[in-house]
Amino acid sequence: MAQVSCSFCGRRKNEVELLLSGIDAHICNHCILQGHQVVMDELNPKEKKEKKPKLPKLNLVTPVEMKQFLEQYVIGQDEAKRTLAVAVYNHYKRLNQPVSDDDVVIEKSNIIMVGETGTGKTYLARSIARILQVPFCIADATTVTEAGYVGEDVETILTRLLQAADYNVEAAERGIVYIDEIDKVSRKSDNPSITRDVSGEGVQQAMLKLLEGSVVNVPPQGGRKHPDQKMIQLNTENILFICGGAFDGIERHIAKRINTRPIGFSGDNRIIEIFDKGNLMRYVTAQDLKSFGLIPELIGRLPVLTHLNPLDRDTLKRILTEPKNALVKQYKKLFKMEDIDLHFEEDVLDFIVDQADAYKLGARGLRAICESIMTDAMFELPSMNEVKEFTVSLDYARAKFEKSSLSLLRSVA
Ligand code: ADP
Repeated sequence: MAQVSCSFCGRRKNEVELLLSGIDAHICNHCILQGHQVVMDELNPKEKKEKKPKLPKLNLVTPVEMKQFLEQYVIGQDEAKRTLAVAVYNHYKRLNQPVSDDDVVIEKSNIIMVGETGTGKTYLARSIARILQVPFCIADATTVTEAGYVGEDVETILTRLLQAADYNVEAAERGIVYIDEIDKVSRKSDNPSITRDVSGEGVQQAMLKLLEGSVVNVPPQGGRKHPDQKMIQLNTENILFICGGAFDGIERHIAKRINTRPIGFSGDNRIIEIFDKGNLMRYVTAQDLKSFGLIPELIGRLPVLTHLNPLDRDTLKRILTEPKNALVKQYKKLFKMEDIDLHFEEDVLDFIVDQADAYKLGARGLRAICESIMTDAMFELPSMNEVKEFTVSLDYARAKFEKSSLSLLRSVA
């Protein structure tokens, strides 16, 4: 005799957990559940609307905990870490804020970070992303131009965020965006331009609407917008923007401002002596950003300003060895996978720092220099089974480095 089956979905009795029988028909547990949902939705449409999956409430990681976490990866840059930790914490609180019964609404505080190249701006942002429970993306301001010109539209910055959120619009609407190289879209002079400035002021103008919180049409695949493209609407009101830039030469503006400040013993050259001349970046203000070429409207939408310190030799050396994924630790791990114990003599580390210092690339140079020293060993040792230990001495490091294209570059320069 044929096995009884569900009259709705056709599943046989042995394929379901429960099969109820009526006079002439049967129904399985799956169809009962589905039927129940349909009945509830039909009878109570309001409830159906509320059933929309809500995004989870975010767990607050306190600023202190966040800073402690950053400490494992980023060396120094205390002030920037504190500022970022507070900003991200407040961002979470803002997202969690209940519909208020008073008129106090926490506004978002977008951030701008100023610091020489290779001092850890992007790295800080990336490290923050590790603890975040919201989508995060990094975009580059130099790839965008004003609409209608060669390049990408500013909206493509949000395409990345959508992609990071797996196209979940609600999740993307509470994400964090890091925009790198913001200084590269500064206008060419402090005065409003008369001619069009499509990659500078034009882009800044276009960015305003992202930063201030509005509904933006985002091309889901990025690139240039075109009429037939289906757009995704994204509200940027709850998106936190962090901008970063090297602002090469901004020290001149800072020094000028400090020297001409109409207080105390103004006009006196001594005033600069009470400041830390080696690191004028510490005194950067919104006014300096304006002198550099950011438009006031953009600066106004980036109310939190912080700086990163230039990396001195000591910090560079710590970066080589201390962070959780320090370069030295990475090489040791690579060699360990070949059963080789790798050691660096102390003066090798100093040598690497010397070279990085000379190239003025901040910590970014460290990697390239280490590679130039280590490549030969990484090439040869895996096929030399008898080697169980390898020590990089100063002579070895110097010989390898001098042979490399990096050192050639330096002698040309
Ligand atoms: P930028 O300030 O130009 O954005 P990055 O953040 O890209 O510089 O830094 C380049 C690399 O140098 C990073 O990937 C990181 O490995 C290293 N680095 C830079 N600053 C630090 C720091 N303060 N602590 C640890 N590593 C750093």
